[in-house]
Amino acid sequence: ATESNGTNSRYQYDAGVTDCLFCRIVAGEIPATVVTETDTTLAFRDIDPKAPTHVLVIPKEHHQAVGDLDPALAGQVLATAHQVAKSEGIDSSGYRLVFNTGRDGGQTVFHVHCHVLGGRALTWPPG
Ligand code: 5GP
Repeated sequence: ATESNGTNSRYQYDAGVTDCLFCRIVAGEIPATVVTETDTTLAFRDIDPKAPTHVLVIPKEHHQAVGDLDPALAGQVLATAHQVAKSEGIDSSGYRLVFNTGRDGGQTVFHVHCHVLGGRALTWPPG
């Protein structure tokens, strides 16, 4: 069964994903600071930024992890991430794209998201 979810009715979700935080952000049920969006992707600021620029890019459609994305949608997420890097002014200084995936990858929200991090020199390796 689907239920209406406000502003983005094209992206109605079924009962199984109503608990998904990022689906609720797509639906406009939970506020977020949106940086940019396309038909299929949404970019918004991380609530707990780890760098001067810390934006999350998600497909509007619910998928758990990067391996669940078809190549076209994965490409759209990456294209939006690059667009964010340009609009944030970090495209030339450099930035990092991260998909934390699964338990060992440290994923905490199970709606695939690309972290766009930049605005300072990032260290390597990650913890
Ligand atoms: P993960 O740990 O799954 O790779 O990343 C999840 C990210 O979502 C974290 O960086 C966390 O700060 C962010 N986050 C968690 N809850 C919210 C929220 O309600 N709004 C926003 N904008 N970001 C969130």
